[in-house]
Amino acid sequence: MKINIINNNHTTYHIVHSVNSTEAERYACMELQKYLYLSTNTLIPVFSDKCMKRSKEIIIGSARDSKVSLELAGMSKEAFIIKEKDEEIYITGNSPRGILYGVYKFLEEFINFRCFTKDCEKYDSIDNLSIDKDFSLIQDFTFEYREVYFTDAFNGDFAAKNMLNSNLADLSNKHGNKVKWYNFHHSFSDLINPKDYFDAHPEYFSLINGKRIKEHTELCLSNKDVFNLCLDKLRAWIINNPECDIFSVAQDEWMGHFIKMACECENCKKIDEENNSQSGSIITFVNKLAESLQDEFPNKLIHTFAYQYSRRTPTKVVPHKNIIVRLCNIECSWSKSIEESASLNPNGRDGMFLNDLVNWSKISNHLYIWDYAVNFRNYLLPFPNFRSMAKNINLYKKYNVKGLLMQGNFSYGGKGYFDELKSYVIARLMRDDTEPLDVLIKDFCDNYYGKESSKYVIDYLNMWEDEIYNKTLWLYDDADSLLFTDELIDKGLKLLNAAFNETDNYIYKERIEKLILGMEYAYLVRLENSENKNKLVDKFYEKVKKHHITELFERTSLEYSISIMKNSRYAKDRPNWYSLYYIMK
Ligand SMILES: [Zn+2]
Repeated sequence: MKINIINNNHTTYHIVHSVNSTEAERYACMELQKYLYLSTNTLIPVFSDKCMKRSKEIIIGSARDSKVSLELAGMSKEAFIIKEKDEEIYITGNSPRGILYGVYKFLEEFINFRCFTKDCEKYDSIDNLSIDKDFSLIQDFTFEYREVYFTDAFNGDFAAKNMLNSNLADLSNKHGNKVKWYNFHHSFSDLINPKDYFDAHPEYFSLINGKRIKEHTELCLSNKDVFNLCLDKLRAWIINNPECDIFSVAQDEWMGHFIKMACECENCKKIDEENNSQSGSIITFVNKLAESLQDEFPNKLIHTFAYQYSRRTPTKVVPHKNIIVRLCNIECSWSKSIEESASLNPNGRDGMFLNDLVNWSKISNHLYIWDYAVNFRNYLLPFPNFRSMAKNINLYKKYNVKGLLMQGNFSYGGKGYFDELKSYVIARLMRDDTEPLDVLIKDFCDNYYGKESSKYVIDYLNMWEDEIYNKTLWLYDDADSLLFTDELIDKGLKLLNAAFNETDNYIYKERIEKLILGMEYAYLVRLENSENKNKLVDKFYEKVKKHHITELFERTSLEYSISIMKNSRYAKDRPNWYSLYYIMK
């Protein structure tokens, strides 16, 4: 049996929120009203439960003293429920953010709402809206923290509609806020800066080859004064930033500087040797901080990295329950999933990473992953990792990972290879890793590039996905990698030109033009240097600016990147890479 909410563009229902509701709950009501109106041309009035009940209602949050959220007991604070009971519709959650997610889920279920990008959404146009009697849908999240680190996903509305609680997204009170970090990543030098302390206390910093190091250094984690200074600083961070949930105490990274940096003094070395990993001294150190602060701040989490030299799991020490260990897979290849590569070569890079993932998952209460989804040396070059990424997200779930960040092109202008599509697909898979990848891709492409052009765009995408499977895909490949041949680039250009010519819609054409830039980039950097190439690069530069792309290489100015394209075949020779030095927030 069906309950009619809207019947031939007519409704008697009201949307109601509690008189004591939060901004996010009221926003949830307004979003529900807005999208149901756009879809059905029928306006459902919104009011608070201070008003007398006049008809059947869509009851949001705890309005009318609804106790429906009790059905979510024991679930995460973002869990939500949509339920029909006695012809009333209830949408509620364990937090304002969960309630807003519940509204977007309702819209997805009943008007086929999708938010593909901040500028591209869809919903059905319908005259009738009905719900099954006794309908009930409960959703919780495998990953408690979901961050798509792409410029396209920083928009707060996009993030909320796709249920991302990203630290960097512009999520405010109306969205029910987010998982807020203080010091998002590397932070040792924020805790104790060598500029302030090294001259008086060289013993606070890394001892390497018998010498205390001031530049490109880490902290001497077995030093008692270092611990006390860090504890005071961390306590002050927590007190002064009550809105933050997570505080980072993590090893530094000195851009492009990969020689050993961790302290090798007698005491640090002893701990690391006992643990068969340099993560031993890090986890021992952050555990002591967590133990010291757990009574004062039981709900605050401390983040640290398992990254590069600290990636291997310690064999003795176990992370405190309030510690987030964020494992980074920067050494992996993305041509196959981690499990596929590991099964072919258990002792290779992916096999070693899988081993670390399995081992950390056995000892960590909050294991998070920092994964990557773009070529950082050449943002526009195809980085065909859709299939491997989807499988890797399944893998992370299998090993009880609780938080996931996927890093793409995060520059102001964004726009790496299929950035918009990747942002959407990753967001969807982070909240439900069982959604079929090809369905997500087709739905997006039909709506973002237009139905006429979509099939060519998908053929283009699949061409690279098929091609990469038996090759390697690293984060810093150049256009002379085995993936790229003149034939494939030519075929790619033909497919995208067909997509472009198939549509008359100028918005779709602009979007396809951006994809074409990727092939033009690959074509141009593969050419021998010549006057003619320089002229073509100048034309390419104009197009790049037209599409508001601000970086071609990570943290490198556009003008400098263009000069590299002209002067160095494959844009390989880059004396000043990272010419724009800015820090991820
Ligand atoms: Zn030391």
